[in-house]
Amino acid sequence: MVLKDVFKRPLLDLRISVTDRCNMRCRYCMPREHFDKNHVYLPKSDILSFEEIVRVVESLLPAGLRKVRLTGGEPLIRKDLYKLIEQLRELSPDLDIALTTNAQLLSKSILDLKKAGLSRVTVSLDAIDVDVYQAMGDTTSTPDAIIESIDKTLALGIPVKVNTVIQKGVNEHQVIPLISQMGSRNIPIRFIEYMDVGATNSWNLDHVMTGKEMRHLIETEFGLIQPIEPDHPSDVARTYHTDSGSVIGFIESISNPFCGDCSRARLSANGSIYTCLFATEGFDLRGILRMDATKEDITSAISAIWNQRKDRYSETRSEKTDLNRIEMSFIGG
Ligand code: SAM
Ligand code: SF4
Ligand code: SF4
Repeated sequence: MVLKDVFKRPLLDLRISVTDRCNMRCRYCMPREHFDKNHVYLPKSDILSFEEIVRVVESLLPAGLRKVRLTGGEPLIRKDLYKLIEQLRELSPDLDIALTTNAQLLSKSILDLKKAGLSRVTVSLDAIDVDVYQAMGDTTSTPDAIIESIDKTLALGIPVKVNTVIQKGVNEHQVIPLISQMGSRNIPIRFIEYMDVGATNSWNLDHVMTGKEMRHLIETEFGLIQPIEPDHPSDVARTYHTDSGSVIGFIESISNPFCGDCSRARLSANGSIYTCLFATEGFDLRGILRMDATKEDITSAISAIWNQRKDRYSETRSEKTDLNRIEMSFIGG
């Protein structure tokens, strides 16, 4: 039985936020003036245990789930994350288990993650220039350290992709150096349009560099880029290659939305299901998980939520300007 929403979109992909905390303070995601010592994070007792997360995934496998992505906040600050991956891998040898991370802690954990059965890693890296990187991430870490951890991950045979948020006037001059660095390592890079998620990042359309503008910039340097057929219609990135073989994707949530094939659900760290990145509220699952629900109970609860799903926020965003949006660091990217 495959779950289908109102527009017949299946639930194939679950993004699991394992914590609402982070060791960076990216200006566009967790600006320090909002996420300071007075910010109230989830209490430990509210956060799903690994066993509870595994029960949710287990209940969705017969319903067509094929991929999970561990995210946050910063997933690698969750203690012993590899143990969650071990338990997820035990559910199915075929489940695609991906991790999205800022990679500050990747070097020291990657061997355990690989042994546990992690399929692949997406590293968020917004600049090669150290000053730009540190200003955007409000961090003392360096891009060199992140690239070192990427190299270590590749050396272990784990595929890596890089995600870069481009903000106009902030890091568009990093597009070309990032492609050169990643292209030389055969790492696909995806440029993300700066999105209006959350309510703390002072998002403004003037700060958005569209995918089209980025492609123009790239073609000026590398010549014409050619589109690559997507592996699956629900892929979020539109992908191209340069003549020299660099693979470059664009996640154009603002200028070229892709809700039509969106098959992603999100599970927040405190156990709510969100059917869209821009949802204003989630559906509590933790309640039934903690009432000893069976696998079948969990499947039918999620099925009831998914069957009613009508979300297509990116396609209708101009009609909705005053939503009380959930923060990206809470719901996961
Ligand atoms: N901390 C991890 C990381 O940064 O990779 C995982 C969570 S983070 C919320 C997931 C992704 O969301 C990152 O690639 C980040 O760049 C992206 N992101 C956060 N805020 C964004 C925004 N306003 N617009 C576009 N992407 C954003
Ligand atoms: Fe942390 Fe990721 Fe948000 Fe940056 S984008 S503040 S690394 S959760
Ligand atoms: Fe999916 Fe919502 Fe993003 Fe559209 S706006 S692609 S429905 S998460």
